[in-house]
Amino acid sequence: MRIAVLGTGMVGQALAGRLAELGHEVTTGTRDPADTLARTEPDAMGNPPYREWADAHPQVRLATFAEAAAGADLVVNATSGQVSMAALTAAGRDNLAGKVLVDVANPLDSSAGFPPTLFVKDTYSLGEQIQVAFPEAKVVKTLNTMTASLMVHPTQLSDGEHTVFVSGNDVDAKQTTIALLESFGHTDVIDLGDISTARGAETLLPIWLRLMTAVNTPIFNFKIVR
Ligand code: NAP
Repeated sequence: MRIAVLGTGMVGQALAGRLAELGHEVTTGTRDPADTLARTEPDAMGNPPYREWADAHPQVRLATFAEAAAGADLVVNATSGQVSMAALTAAGRDNLAGKVLVDVANPLDSSAGFPPTLFVKDTYSLGEQIQVAFPEAKVVKTLNTMTASLMVHPTQLSDGEHTVFVSGNDVDAKQTTIALLESFGHTDVIDLGDISTARGAETLLPIWLRLMTAVNTPIFNFKIVR
């Protein structure tokens, strides 16, 4: 499949690298490719600049958000939640129309420090905001409840049987997304329902953030025992 991963951060890199490894034709999307490649400093989280990752992954193209989305069959939103609307607007409504839009972003507001708060919650979600703003895209919220490396390598945990959630209005788009999740190695996928159920998945973030501090690692996940 031709896949656009919008976002050049650690999540975009993890997803783009794994999708390319699985044989997909992958383009990462950014605001300004030349500017992104020219960065030499680590990002705010201390991750190395995108160029280093790109050099190690020559099969992944880098393009503007719009070019990446235009050439894709499926688009992934891996941008910061606070700018997701801006990034998707730059990607272009027409370039998203009719396509599966896998949304892994979290509506985090870090302006008051750690832990961040949610800028939308309880009665609405970022996933729904994106679906309303881009009604012709088929938004599927998923993977936002685990750290980047576990998204694409769930067997990194010795008990690989942990849970990933999907929310979305379009049944076929969810099936396409679930097939991708299974290709990553996920075995326990729970379909929560329509895109309004993204409220549930997004509001797991406050407990996820406290757990990261309590267990002193981001390498953990929720497992729904039933
Ligand atoms: P991030 O730092 O949250 O976002 C990086 C992306 O945001 C870059 O591609 C950047 O564009 C874009 N961006 C920044 N400002 C922008 C603006 N004003 N307009 C348009 N785009 C802008 O990256 P991340 O840490 O990889 O996280 C990506 C998403 O995944 C977030 O929503 C996060 O909450 C979610 N998530 C993260 C994890 C994790 O393990 N970190 C786990 C689950 C979910 P440029 O490429 O042009 O710089």
